[in-house]
Amino acid sequence: MNVTEITNVLIIALYMVSAVLFIRGIKLLGKADTARKGNLLSSVGMLIAVVTVLAEKEVRDSFTLVNFRYNGYLYIVAAVLIGSVIGAIWSKKVEMTGMPQLVALFNGFGGLSSLLVALTQYLNDTHDSSTSVDPFTGVTLGLTIAIGAIAFTGSVVAWGKLSGKMFKKSVAIPAKNVVNAILAIAGLVGVGLYAFSGANTQLALIGIAIVTVAYLILGLTMVVCIGGGDMPVIISLLNAFSGLAAAFAGLAISNSVLVVSGCLVGTSGLILTLIMCKAMNRTLYSLLFGSFGAKTAKKGAGSDKEPKSMSVEDAYLILEAASSVVFVPGYGMAVAQAQHAVKELADKLEANGAEVNFAIHPVAGRMPGHMNVLLAEANVPYEQLKTADEMNPQMGNTDVAIVIGANDVVNPSAVDDETSPLYGMPIINAYEARTVFVLKRGKGTGFSGIENPLFTNDNTVMLYGDAKQTVSSLVSEFDEG
Ligand code: NDP
Repeated sequence: MNVTEITNVLIIALYMVSAVLFIRGIKLLGKADTARKGNLLSSVGMLIAVVTVLAEKEVRDSFTLVNFRYNGYLYIVAAVLIGSVIGAIWSKKVEMTGMPQLVALFNGFGGLSSLLVALTQYLNDTHDSSTSVDPFTGVTLGLTIAIGAIAFTGSVVAWGKLSGKMFKKSVAIPAKNVVNAILAIAGLVGVGLYAFSGANTQLALIGIAIVTVAYLILGLTMVVCIGGGDMPVIISLLNAFSGLAAAFAGLAISNSVLVVSGCLVGTSGLILTLIMCKAMNRTLYSLLFGSFGAKTAKKGAGSDKEPKSMSVEDAYLILEAASSVVFVPGYGMAVAQAQHAVKELADKLEANGAEVNFAIHPVAGRMPGHMNVLLAEANVPYEQLKTADEMNPQMGNTDVAIVIGANDVVNPSAVDDETSPLYGMPIINAYEARTVFVLKRGKGTGFSGIENPLFTNDNTVMLYGDAKQTVSSLVSEFDEG
């Protein structure tokens, strides 16, 4: 074997090692106690993959000291440095509550990278007049552009909605399905034009332009209409798209590790999308073609009544007598960073003889598993974290449900108001508990912007204020009492 052959074998072996590390990493990420190790293994896999790319023949061939501006390493090192600096600063600066929109943006950048890789490959093929593109490579390259484009603009809209900076309200597009169908079909025609006309023709250029523009617009029109509580599902779908785009890019440029990592992200994203759909009682079809969530937010049935509020001292007396308590955490707990205080209160209640559980809604907070992560950080035992299916049958026998900064996930309109955009979404049935404490700062609505009739129910009392402060005051009452 000569040096080139040894290098090629080494490259394949290193790609396999990084693929195995990705697979093992994603497996470990499935459990809270092994997640850190999973993250580390996946990062090492990524490092190996990145270093191995530097040894690829095309990159090696680009090395030149004579005409430095054509040296591929210059651009790779510059891109890695710029990306690392921006990433490091951004990750340090981001608030925990800003994480979901950051993740949405990362999905978008993943899609954009695949799109740019595919466009660069197209330009290379066009530049090299001896290259003619076979239909398989043409189709994979076209699909990389399509899926990368949709993931990019869709994720930018998702970022805007999550951060409240753009498209906060769902936008109704007249004949949305027709518009989307035209864009989707036009883009696929573009892929066909490119793939079956060779790389160098005028037709191929038109095909590439059509698919790029059509799918960039499709990402926008598809996501801008999503409102209500349905964003989590679309975000995991966009995550799947960014993975699929990377997998197709891997096929288009014959890079095996990109195919493996793209498939891992794509399939796990699709599985998560299906789980989220089930949790939200939606189908993938209604997600893509329905108009749910885009209905106008309507005032809840009890909105004319004023919610009753109570002092922390009185709330303590009720809690002190309770023999079963269920915490229902939501986004407000993340905002207040109240998880440690909540754990303290749970300990006090248990020491007082109460049975304590946590009812976790799959879309509570702003990212999948948001509440589980926060509560695990506060050392709440895993066995106390229950799903809606496990907790709801027991809710009628619960003395006190403590809703901590949750709103949409406990909104009874989802159960009994067919006109509500939330209708059909399973909720935590906190309203069935004998007494419901709702901890929130004021009259703010949840992410969906929909009024919540729970707050004016006869068995509901509001404990107004920042969730952390209120919970800490309740803990102090137990200490003094
Ligand atoms: P919501 O967004 O419905 O409600 C949060 C509530 O927390 C608000 O009503 C707010 O009221 C209160 N709040 C905010 N800050 C504080 C604070 N410091 N102390 C006390 N309360 C506070 O949260 P839910 O968890 O119930 O629902 C999640 C929503 O987000 C769903 O609609 C879901 O679809 C959506 N979503 C979820 C994603 C996911 O993956 N989990 C991703 C994208 C969207 P006030 O201002 O009065 O205090």
